[in-house]
Amino acid sequence: MSDTPPAGPPPRHRPITLGLDVGGSKTDTVAVRDGEILARVRLHTGWGPDAVVATILDAVTALRGRAGITPDHPVTIGIGIPGQIVPGTTRVAHAVNLGLDSFDLGAALADATGSTVRIENDVKAATLGAAFLRGGAASMAYLNLGTGIAAGVLTGGELWRGTRGAAGEIGHISIDPAGPDCRCGQVGCIEAFAGGGAIASRWGRPGALPVRDVFDAADAGDAHAIALRAGLAHGVAAAVRVLVLTADVDVVIIGGGLAALGERLLADVRRELRRSAAASSFLGSLRLDERIETLPEGSAAAALGAALAGAGRPAPQTAGVLARG
Ligand SMILES: [Zn+2]
Repeated sequence: MSDTPPAGPPPRHRPITLGLDVGGSKTDTVAVRDGEILARVRLHTGWGPDAVVATILDAVTALRGRAGITPDHPVTIGIGIPGQIVPGTTRVAHAVNLGLDSFDLGAALADATGSTVRIENDVKAATLGAAFLRGGAASMAYLNLGTGIAAGVLTGGELWRGTRGAAGEIGHISIDPAGPDCRCGQVGCIEAFAGGGAIASRWGRPGALPVRDVFDAADAGDAHAIALRAGLAHGVAAAVRVLVLTADVDVVIIGGGLAALGERLLADVRRELRRSAAASSFLGSLRLDERIETLPEGSAAAALGAALAGAGRPAPQTAGVLARG
């Protein structure tokens, strides 16, 4: 009989991945080893290429310090960013909220950090993170409800990208030819009904959390707010139908800023889904109202997903390892 096999290298030599979710206003970052969060750091995001790189380097330095990572310890870095990633490159295009267009963020960071850097679209990264936190769901969609609306789809444990990386951009599917104008130039898009930016501009009153204000005003009987709130549920329910009917995912996990509304939002969306199911035995058989969930408020799913993307591992291989977050 041989001795018990060695349990691998000691912890201080095991690979560490830094995951950074770089948002338009905030950057949420985690250091991850063996599926465990060692440290989490959040800071404000600068605008433009130099400031975004500086934000990321500040975060890397802070994570190294908090997690006690020595300067000689190799780390890999995964970045989730709201923009298109030119396929096969680390170049970011159309990240308008960050002031980046056709900027090779990966090259700039690799030079500055000496680390391997992988870049992923933020919603696709968050999809990996949400699947991971749920224990390795192999068939799921992540629906991001923020200023805009987009989704990520995981089938067979793999992210669905499409040929140009546009798979999941369901916010610009028009669901009503008589609906509100959308910033994309179409009419009646899902995002025109349910995007936080569109709702805030149609509400037209100042406030730190305009969609929450709309819910409060609707509860108080304001007719304009009631219509906007109904439009939000209508748009989200349409997004859920699109995702399930396209990819037959087990579950649609709702994240992004509007997910903080929690049950207030989910109750409306379930009611809307049941209404459509009542009119169609086919839709009814899909039990869409039972397939939606929200991410808990403050979840690190997006940064974790960036770390998974940075480690180059699909979610299911590491699923269930992560104990915290
Ligand atoms: Zn649109």
